[in-house]
Amino acid sequence: MTKRNLIADVLRLKTERKALILAHNYQLPEIHAVADVIGDSLELALAARKATEPVLVICGVRFMAETAHILNPDRTVLIPNLDAGCPLADFLTPDIILETKKHYPEAAVVVYINSTAACKAVADSVCTSGNAVRIVSSFPNRQVIFGPDTNLASYVQSALPEKEIIPIPEGGHCYVHMEFSPEDIVEVKTTGASVIAHPECPEEVRRHADYIASTGKMVEIAKTGDSWYICTESGMLERLYELCPDQSFIGNEDAICADMKKITLQELMTCLRDLSGTVQVPPEIMAGARKSLEYMLSVP
Ligand code: SF4
Repeated sequence: MTKRNLIADVLRLKTERKALILAHNYQLPEIHAVADVIGDSLELALAARKATEPVLVICGVRFMAETAHILNPDRTVLIPNLDAGCPLADFLTPDIILETKKHYPEAAVVVYINSTAACKAVADSVCTSGNAVRIVSSFPNRQVIFGPDTNLASYVQSALPEKEIIPIPEGGHCYVHMEFSPEDIVEVKTTGASVIAHPECPEEVRRHADYIASTGKMVEIAKTGDSWYICTESGMLERLYELCPDQSFIGNEDAICADMKKITLQELMTCLRDLSGTVQVPPEIMAGARKSLEYMLSVP
């Protein structure tokens, strides 16, 4: 079937099923072409929470579908490929959190949204890359257990020296953001480009960047200049070309998230046709995970 036919089928099925398609910024351009909402993790979570459609299709990775179900449990939440996970999220388990908490009983626990529902259920709050500093500073506790991204933890620590951030587990990171190097940035800056790095990049990369921002914020920043080097998953470049046609962007073509690319038009069509790929968070996890997510959303 041609891409054009698949797009037509997806759009027809989307109407028939009364479905809302929510796609992450890193998804393929053809998925963006049929999506109702495109955004970062926080933007997708907010859109899922207020959605009134009976079916929510999450074109992203599994923790995003779990988040949609936690925030809007009466909807049918689907993901076109159940194998689309997040290796960063897989670094952390509830046991690691609970064990760390034994050593730091006075600490608050903040988990990155890139974590399983089970981890969210034992945390005090969730955060995204865009609001991590704000969420951590909202707790009176001096010590804050933070996982699973040690790069994001070090970013928060540098912004909040008055806190003691306890990163867990050791070495948790996103392999996609490890593709960037300080040497590349130094070289690209000689061309006059400015650099925006995602907080998931390692500290030595962030240090050379002009801006550090979540993908949602990158669009806003990019409009203030002409030429940019973007340190995040390469799918974001397509999104920036589309939203900022007057600017130029380069990135690293090796920075590809294999899991994000597991969502294809064919799978999206099958998912809508068969209502397959249901994601349901178990009831014993739901309440705790929801409390942590709602805490994050309540912080001004
Ligand atoms: S880009 Fe990194 S953090 Fe995002 S889904 Fe892929 S592996 Fe996970």
